[in-house]
Amino acid sequence: MKLKSSKINEFRLWGLLLTLAGMGVMIIGTAGVLLWGDKGKILMFVMMFFGSIFLMASMAVYFWAGMMSTSTVALECPNCGKQTKMIGKTDRCMYCKTILTVDPEYAPEKQSTPSETKEL
Ligand SMILES: [Zn+2]
Repeated sequence: MKLKSSKINEFRLWGLLLTLAGMGVMIIGTAGVLLWGDKGKILMFVMMFFGSIFLMASMAVYFWAGMMSTSTVALECPNCGKQTKMIGKTDRCMYCKTILTVDPEYAPEKQSTPSETKEL
């Protein structure tokens, strides 16, 4: 299976998968109590432990994705013309999956709009 998406979307996907895995593990752990009674409680605690680790990992991924998205380069996709974000020097457009490369040496002086000099 080949996933072709931009890095930020990939991070969101992993965050979602980890959240689902964490919740799934917790549900299985709870089901263990229903199936095996007191014996299942140990299983439940173990499952809850791993489930919370998955959930914390997913939070970390989301946090990381958030941190990365602040350091992305916003640019207009040359292919579909939509505003997209890029991480690093090479990434894919969020909309049309075109591979984008930003290298200052190859990037010609683009339209320098006054909004670029806005202060934060
Ligand atoms: Zn595009």
